[in-house]
Parts: sequence; C-alpha cells; structure tokens
Amino acid sequence: MILLSPEAETVLKTRYLLPNETPSVLFQRVASYVAKAEADYGHDAASYAQEYYELMSSLTFLPNSPALLNAGKPHAQLAACFVLPVEDSLEDIFETLKHTALIHQSGGGTGFSFSRLRPEGDKVDASGGTAGGPVSFLHIYDKATQVVKQGAARSGANMAVMQVDHPDIFTFITAKRRHDVLNNFNLSVGVTDDFMRAVQNKDDFALVNPRNGKVVKMVPAKEIFDLLVQMAWENGEPGLFFIDTVNKANPTPGLGRFESPNPCSEQPLLPFESCVLGSINLTKMLKKTGDEEILDEDKLARTVRTAIRFLDNIVDINHYPLQQVTEATKRTRKIGLGIMGLAELFISLDIPYASEQAVQLTRSIMKFITAEARAMSAQLGQVRGNFPAFRDSVYIQQGYHYMRNATVTTIAPTGTISIIAGCSSGIEPLFGLAMTRNVLEGKIITSVNQVVVEYLNRLGLLTDSVYEQIVAAGSVVGLPLPDRVKRVLATAHEIEPYWHVAHLAAAQKYTDNGVSKTVNLPKNATLADVAEVFFTSYAKGCKGVTVYRDKSRDQQVLTHGIAC
Ligand code: UDP
Repeated sequence: MILLSPEAETVLKTRYLLPNETPSVLFQRVASYVAKAEADYGHDAASYAQEYYELMSSLTFLPNSPALLNAGKPHAQLAACFVLPVEDSLEDIFETLKHTALIHQSGGGTGFSFSRLRPEGDKVDASGGTAGGPVSFLHIYDKATQVVKQGAARSGANMAVMQVDHPDIFTFITAKRRHDVLNNFNLSVGVTDDFMRAVQNKDDFALVNPRNGKVVKMVPAKEIFDLLVQMAWENGEPGLFFIDTVNKANPTPGLGRFESPNPCSEQPLLPFESCVLGSINLTKMLKKTGDEEILDEDKLARTVRTAIRFLDNIVDINHYPLQQVTEATKRTRKIGLGIMGLAELFISLDIPYASEQAVQLTRSIMKFITAEARAMSAQLGQVRGNFPAFRDSVYIQQGYHYMRNATVTTIAPTGTISIIAGCSSGIEPLFGLAMTRNVLEGKIITSVNQVVVEYLNRLGLLTDSVYEQIVAAGSVVGLPLPDRVKRVLATAHEIEPYWHVAHLAAAQKYTDNGVSKTVNLPKNATLADVAEVFFTSYAKGCKGVTVYRDKSRDQQVLTHGIAC
C-alpha cells in the first residue's frame, strides 16, 4: 500500500503513469529496469529490483522525473541534466540547437554558455555582414524550445550563462526585463574572482571579444554589478554562477572547464556531460527514542548506499540522445544524490530553520551523506571498475584507489518529486503552512501541512482557532503561540536572507556538485540587501546564488498558503 497525498496522486495520474498503470506498477517498472544493470555484474537483478521498489514505494528515495517517466520505455532516457557547448559559428550554433531539441524530447534540461559567441555588431567573414550576438541566438533557442515542448513529456528547460567579461553583458543582464520573453530560459552571469575583486576595489573591468581576445572596452566593474543587482531585485534574474569557485571543485580538470550548469543551476557539467539525480526524503529518516524524535543515521547510511548503486546503474543502462553525450557521461559517470524534506525534518526536531543549530545540521547531514556516498562509490569502483577518467582526476592526489563516479552528490530543486513524496522541496523552508488544492467539481479546499499539524499537536497547541488561522494566512505570524513555536514555523519570506545563504553555504560545503536554493527576500528588501546576498554567498564559497523578492514577478508559482 503506497501512501500518496492527493497532490501526489494528481501529479502521477496526469503526467507520470502509463495507460492502466498504478503508482505501484510505476515503481515496479522503474525498479526492475534499473536493476537490469545488476545482471551485467553477475548479481540477482530480481532481489535488487525488490530493494529499489521498496525504497521508492515507501517514498524514501526518488530519482529525478525523467527516470520515473521513461524507465522501461524504448530508448529510455533517465537523466535530467545536460550541458552542451555552443561554438562561434552558424553551423555549430544550429547543430547545438538540434542537439537541444533531441535532449528536450528525451525529457532532459540543457545548460549552455553563450560566452564564446562573438558580440553583437562584430564582423562575420562569410557574409561580410555583422553578427547578431549571443542574445539574438538565445531568442531562437527559446522559440525552438517552446515548439518542441508540445511534443515532449516534460517541458524543456534551459540555462544560459554569459561570462561577465563578454562585451554583450549589459544586453544579457537585461534580456528578461520584459516578462514575456525567454520564458524557457534561466539566465546566470558567469562571475569570476577577478570581477568580484574589481567590484570591491571599484576598479575598471575589461570586456573582451571572445573571437580574438581583444579588449573591446573598459567599464567600471561596479556598473555591471549594480545592473545585476537591479535586475535580480526587479525580476529574480539573472542568477550568479561563481565560475572560478565551480572550477576549483572540478574533479577532472584535465578534461576541461565548467562553463555552465544545468537549468536549475545545481549541476555544473563539462560540455556534453549528463547527470542523473535522485533525492532522499529526510522526513523518512527519523526514529523515536522515548518521546523524542532523532535522525536515524543507520537508515540514512543504508538508503544512501542503495541510492548510489541505483544511480550508478542508470549510467550504464541509460539511452543517451547523442553519441557525444554517451562518451562524455561514461568518462566520468557523474551522479547526484541529494535531499528533500529538510524543512519538515527541522520542524519534527523542533529546530527553527533560522538558527545556527539548523545550519549545523544541514552541514552535518550533507557531510554524512557525501561520505557514505563516496564510500559506496569506492566500493563499486573496486568491483565494477573506476570511472575511466579516474587516473587523471583529483581523487588520485587525495589518496583514493577506487571511485566509480567523479561526483556523487547534488541538491536538486525536487520540484515534482517532492510533491510525489509529499515533503518540502530540497533544502527550502516551507513556503506556506497550508496548502490549497482543487478537488472534484471545482471545489477548493485548504488544509494545514501534516508535519505542522503533528508538531502543534505534540505540543498541545492545535486548537480549532489556530488551525483556522493557519488555513487563512498560511503562517503563524500574529497568533498567540510561544515565540519558539513561531520561530520553528516561520515560512520562506519570514526568514532573514542571512539564514537562506547560511543553509546554501552549509549544504554546499559537503556537496560535490551544486545546490539548488533560492534566497527569498521580503517585498520591501532593498538593492543593498540583494548586493549583500551576492557578496556573502560568494565569500562563503557558494557555487551560485539566485534571489527572489516576494511578489516581484507577475506570476509567482508558490505563494503563502498555496502549493503548486
Ligand atoms: N528540469 C527540466 N524541466 C522541468 C523541470 C526540471 O528539464 O520542467 C530539469 C532541470 O535540469 C532541473 C532538473 O530537471 O535542474 C531537476 O529539477 P527538479 O529537481 O525540480 O526535477 P524533478 O525530478 O523533481 O521533476
């Protein structure tokens, strides 16, 4: 018996189940498909299939959506994240666009750097004319995505990065100022250490034509930074991609540099690499001792090990949409295990998200998971063989003898799989304490989050009036509850930006790849608040950062008291 919330049932029914499939059959389909890889290593696939089935059907661990959608189908493509190179020629730009369409059709999202394209107005030898520049091609990619979307199981999402020293950087930063364009793209500026230094020192900064390496002009670094802050304040975009920080953590520098992450920013990849993600539901990692709930480390360790095995199997059995992707992915065998339900774990443990105790727990959970994941990957490496680029990797210098996967951990947004699992998404705080949904005949009901209900019940604080007021406001602000309880139940926009950045940095410290997390700001946040977030996240070693000021966009997916 699989205990699914009504929201989970709806998501599965409308998008994930095959004709006549039940949720249980879906998880069996995924489990047996992924377990097939075990047979190649001489193991009993059926017993692993059973193990994988239990992990998923108990909603303890779920792989990214393409795995749930596609496993078992012909040419099944199970990875969510891809990065493609964009070279500076018409032929290459449109070749990459073709590759993008194929990846979107297969259920994956794509990231690109547009930094190598010559700037707008630069000369074009072949035609004797002038170049349209990267942003003009971005619009073509966006249109193509829109068209392919209609035939794909999941809408294709894109990330475009432009390095901060590109001559078209001002056009790029303001490319989404109009709200009706580039809706299939997230934008990030590739921010270098040199640039951050120049901003701090109020220096001029060189904009360089990538075609010939010539400095086009010098501009005050602060001018670029201020525009970035302004746009992020207005719009939530662009985000920042700290490209030098990211490259310092490259496990295989000999294979090339990272120039872009995937669409939601959590997964930097080398050109043509792909990565499959999966997330552990932390709300299932609690055990009771007496009256108290504590983290069940044994269960977490077991879950990590099985999940790593599961994700590594996918690298073997996946049908990649392009030969170049097959080769690049199998060279490093990157996988990304992460977490969801962190905010609800904190509530069950009676810890405010906005506290040093919570930040330490985020850090220690990811430290524990990455250590277990590495241990499992090393074990698999010993039995199944190291990832082919292991000899040229940083693991050799670190004294490892075996490693199956060049990376093992990533924190994904878990936008859909957290709904299926019925828990809060990724490492985000709760957006609201109540959820509104449509039920039959257009009737709308709002109910309070179950973890919140249990928490208040345990403390003997769940009166009818408290329940009703949470339903109405989605928050406990103004309710006659103890201060501590109000702190534990604070929602995303009530939490100071400082704590959002603190969790992002704490999780990043022990995550191989990136961490998906939005730094939420209240509506009245200032430009200086945004600048502060950018500086602190850079100083704390984050790989990127995205802010979102409450109500700053026309359409807000998640609002108080409402789930998507
Ligand atoms: N993604 C995509 N299209 C979407 C949502 C997500 O291509 O509509 C990709 C994208 O690369 C993103 C990754 O899937 O970074 C993981 O997103 P998320 O964790 O929200 O996916 P889920 O597995 O929960 O559906």
